[in-house]
Amino acid sequence: MKKLLLTLALGSPFALLAQTNLYALIDKQADAIEQQVITWRRDIHQNPELSNREFKTAEKVAAHLKSLGIAVETKVALTGVVGILKGDKPGPVVALRADMDALPVVERVNLPFASKVKSDYRGEQVGVMHACGHDTHVAMLMGAASVLAGMKKDLPGTVIFLFQPAEEGAPPGEKGGAKLMVEEGVLKRHGVSAVFGIHIGSANEVGTVRLKAGSLQASADRFVIKVKGKQTHGSMPWGGIDPVTVSAQIILGLQNIVSRQVDISEAPVVISVGKISGGVRNNIIPEEVELEGTIRCLDPKMQDEVHARMKTTAVNIAESAGATAEVEVVKHVPITANNPALTQRMGPTLKRVAGEDNVIVTKPIMGAEDFSFFANEVPGVFMFLGGMKKGQDPKTAPPHHTPDFYIDESGLKLGVRLHCNMALDYLREGALK
Ligand SMILES: [Zn+2]
Ligand SMILES: [Zn+2]
Repeated sequence: MKKLLLTLALGSPFALLAQTNLYALIDKQADAIEQQVITWRRDIHQNPELSNREFKTAEKVAAHLKSLGIAVETKVALTGVVGILKGDKPGPVVALRADMDALPVVERVNLPFASKVKSDYRGEQVGVMHACGHDTHVAMLMGAASVLAGMKKDLPGTVIFLFQPAEEGAPPGEKGGAKLMVEEGVLKRHGVSAVFGIHIGSANEVGTVRLKAGSLQASADRFVIKVKGKQTHGSMPWGGIDPVTVSAQIILGLQNIVSRQVDISEAPVVISVGKISGGVRNNIIPEEVELEGTIRCLDPKMQDEVHARMKTTAVNIAESAGATAEVEVVKHVPITANNPALTQRMGPTLKRVAGEDNVIVTKPIMGAEDFSFFANEVPGVFMFLGGMKKGQDPKTAPPHHTPDFYIDESGLKLGVRLHCNMALDYLREGALK
C-alpha cells in the first residue's frame, strides 16, 4: 500500500527514470555541443547585422534548423526565423526566444573575432557590433535546437524557436521586432502557450541566473512636448512669451511628478528629457521650444497615471505664462513582467540546472526589453544569464551597448541547458491551468 501511494504521488517509477535520463542526456549533449556554440557565436559576432537587416544571420539559423530536420518559417517580421520541432509524443507548445540584432557601436575589444563591419545607419556609415550579446542568444538557441531535435522521440509536445529581429528597435519608419512577430500571428498560428527568454549579462557572474516574478524590466515610452510662446527681442521679454523659461519650468515640473506625486514606494518611475531644441541666436526669444524624452515605469497603472500627470503639468505650467504646451506620449515597449505562476513553477527547474545558490532574485531594471510583447500574449518568463568572468568586480565590467562590451563564453553552455530543461519540464507538466 505504501509503495502504491508513493507510486501515485510521483508518477510511474519508469517515467521518473526516463525523466532523469533525459536530464542527463541534455547535459551530455550540451557538453558535446559547447564548442560548436562558441564557434557559432564568434562567427555571428564577427558578422553583426543591424535591426531588420539580419539577413545573413537568419540564413545561418534557417540552414542549421533545416539540417536538424526542424520545419522552418523565414521572413517572419521581415528577417525573423521560426523553427517548429514537433515531438513524437502529444503535449503543449512552448516557445524559446533569441533576438538577433546588433548595434551601431564601433567594437574596441581586442579579440581575433572582433567586428570590423560597417553598415549604413540613418544615411551614415557606422561601425556595427554585437554590443548587447544577442550573438550569444542566437548561438545558445541554435545549440538548444540541436539538443532538443536529438530528443524528438521523447518530447511530449512542440518547441517553437523564435529567432527574432530588431529587438533594439526597427529603423525609423519601419515596423519590426517582437511586436511585429506577434502581429503576424506567430504565437497564435502555432498555439504557443508559454514563452521563455534568456538575456546574457556582461556584469553578471558566469553560472548565475537572475530573475524575479512580476515586473522585471520597465516600459519605455517616448514623449514630445511642444511649447509655443511668442517671439520677441531678447532685451525685452515682456514684449512676447518666452517658451525657453516655460520649458525650464516644465522640465522641473516633470521631476516633481516623480518625487512628489506618484507612490515611488510602490515602484520606481523615471522621466528623462533627452533633447531640447529651440531658438537661433542669443538675442532672440524664440517662438517655440521642443522637448523630447523617455518615461520608464514598472507598474501599468502608474504608467497611465504618469502620462496623464505629465500632460496636466506641462499644459498648466505653459498656461500660467500665457504659452501653450502640446504633449504627445507614444507607448513604445511595454513592461516585461514574468508570469508569477510560471516563474514559480520553473523555480525547481532553474535550481536543478544552475544550482540552488546560482538562481538569484534580482531587482527590476529600468531598461526595456521587447520580449514583453510575447509575454503580454502568453505567460512568459525572462531571465539574465551570467556572462562575466568569475571573480571579476561587476563595477569593472563594461556595460551593454558600449564599445568594450565583453562576454565570457564559458557562460553559454548553461544557457543551452536552461533552454532545453525549461522546454522539457514545461512540456511534461503541461500548460498552466
Ligand atoms: Zn540592448
Ligand atoms: Zn539586448
